[in-house]
Amino acid sequence: MTKSSLDNNPLLEVWTGPFGAPPFERIEAGHFRPAFEVALKEAREEIDRVAANPDPPSFANTIEALERSGRSRDKVSRVFFNLAGAATNDELQAIEREMAPVLSRHRSETYLNDALFARIDALKADEHKLGLSAEQTRVLARYHLDFTRAGAGLSPETKARLAAISERLATLGAQFGQNVLADEKAWLLLLEKDDLDGLPDFFIASAARIAADSGHAGKYAVTLSRSSIEPFLQFSARRDLRERAFRAWAARGQSGGAADNRGIAAEMVRLRAERARLMGYESYAHYRLADMMAKTPRAALDLLESVWTPGVLSARKEQEALQGIIASEGAKFKVAPWDWRYFAEKRRKAEFDFDEGEIKPYLQLGRLIEAAFYVADRLFGLRFTERFDLKLYHPDVRAWTVTGRSGEPVALFLGDYFARPSKRSGAWASSFRGQQKLDGSQLPIVVNVMNFAKGGEGEASLLSFDDARTLFHEFGHGLHGMLSDVTYPLIAGTSVAGDFVEFPSQIYENWLEQPEMLRRFALHYKTGEPMPEALLSKLLNARRFNQGFATVEYAASALVDLGLHLDPSPGDVDVLAFERQELARIGMPEAVAMRHRTPHFQHIFSGGYSAAYYSYLWSEILDADGFEAFEESGDIFDPAVAKRLHDFVYAAGDSRDYEAAYKAFRGRAPSPQALFRKRGLEAGGR
Ligand SMILES: [Zn+2]
Repeated sequence: MTKSSLDNNPLLEVWTGPFGAPPFERIEAGHFRPAFEVALKEAREEIDRVAANPDPPSFANTIEALERSGRSRDKVSRVFFNLAGAATNDELQAIEREMAPVLSRHRSETYLNDALFARIDALKADEHKLGLSAEQTRVLARYHLDFTRAGAGLSPETKARLAAISERLATLGAQFGQNVLADEKAWLLLLEKDDLDGLPDFFIASAARIAADSGHAGKYAVTLSRSSIEPFLQFSARRDLRERAFRAWAARGQSGGAADNRGIAAEMVRLRAERARLMGYESYAHYRLADMMAKTPRAALDLLESVWTPGVLSARKEQEALQGIIASEGAKFKVAPWDWRYFAEKRRKAEFDFDEGEIKPYLQLGRLIEAAFYVADRLFGLRFTERFDLKLYHPDVRAWTVTGRSGEPVALFLGDYFARPSKRSGAWASSFRGQQKLDGSQLPIVVNVMNFAKGGEGEASLLSFDDARTLFHEFGHGLHGMLSDVTYPLIAGTSVAGDFVEFPSQIYENWLEQPEMLRRFALHYKTGEPMPEALLSKLLNARRFNQGFATVEYAASALVDLGLHLDPSPGDVDVLAFERQELARIGMPEAVAMRHRTPHFQHIFSGGYSAAYYSYLWSEILDADGFEAFEESGDIFDPAVAKRLHDFVYAAGDSRDYEAAYKAFRGRAPSPQALFRKRGLEAGGR
């Protein structure tokens, strides 16, 4: 490392700009390697000093000292990972690959440091004698749990076994995903010109391209990637071809060849159960849910079971409607899984149809940003003032100073809205600086990153309704970061459990869907006219379409996920037999298939959702039930309800037990009834 790369390295300086924003205009890719090296060395020394402190452990010399450690590391990492996501290049990508194992080693060194854990463990044992505040108790508990779950305090043999299990699971998980991909690649349905009945032009064009790319010019190809198979099942009028395609899609990961995932899934379930046992948990599901809002598998099962019956009842009604369409066409067959999407599309056209192209002219990005800010003002008294004095990491990025009711600064908000090649796909909220008050108040710098299409020169950027919903969703996460009001960095903002973190983002989407909001902000980009009422109600009604089907295909997958991970010591489980039993037990309607069958259920075998696939629905229950608190008050901006939402949710970070926080906001525990109403499910009549 050359001396100059350290001397003039802006990443290692104290940032004195507004809100301590990074000096983006001076940061170059070449600064990261040396900065990481210095910052990680510093963090290691700080942590070692805490562990080696000769004084008996106290909250201040252990937990607060840990909370103060690694500041340079966090500063450098935040800038690095934000740029790696939103403004990357070959050099940053190379550093990313290089740093991933280094950072993960740094983390495990910290969490497997026995001397450090001994101090935390001693504090935990004495916690009632320490005179801790509620927030401090929560911080201590979380350190203790994080260390315990990393394997701290276990015998060297157990630690070694856990490390071997983790490594094997990582290998199997990667293999699982690759096998699904291999099965998807290996299958191709080639169509001739007279097999194209019902398929729309956009599908035919892309099917022709896929066929040509695979050496079958002049034909049309369907593949098993979701973007090909789903529209095929939705539009193809050929029942025989739909059945063939559907069967292949449903059988991914169980082809019997080298890419068969059944053995891998069984081994992963076994290893996870062993890990949970070694850590002292009853089952892997118990281990996994211990730090979630649900806390226990029973709570998650209760949720899924409460939704199951209304979901099935609605799916049966939907099935009758589809059966009616089939009869009206003079056919006699019973709806099968490969028919559902096709006839549902016909029904959608007949009953809920609107053209996305009619909506778009009313959804201007600028107006919708205003709308998101307007809600934040009405609910929480926030004002957003755009500023043009900051040099950010890309010319498209905008910045706003956020102030509160008495004009006090709250946060710096960055909006990075447009797609570009240097940005990864998707949408997310992140931060360049977290909120904390450990040594004086540190205000957050929060960023929302989207991939919207940029309008032409001087033209408005127009969004789809899904895009607009994404904007509100990520802004909800952003507010969770901006409004954070805690002392300790560990528990600030969005650092909460996986089944709680989507609550502040999803509940925010509700305000976008209010007629009074759309009337005010959905204005035609040329005429300034509000969206016609008929279009508005079509748009809002469409969200109840086909929700029985959606609920059942999802809940079945979530129940199988929990079931597989509840077995305390699974032997060589036959995952398909297990699936069959479970579906029979819950009474799965024959016409609906699981959204993800076990041999290709990537969320739970190669994603982060093992035993936690339920959490999407969990958050949705909170958001539907939570928003009804406003509706019940008769004012979607009711100040008293908004204050509770602020105090117990948006400002609270992880400083409170989630269930207690929710009850403090809502006045009672969450109930799924609101979700039934929102999705229009059978048991949900008002
Ligand atoms: Zn989210």
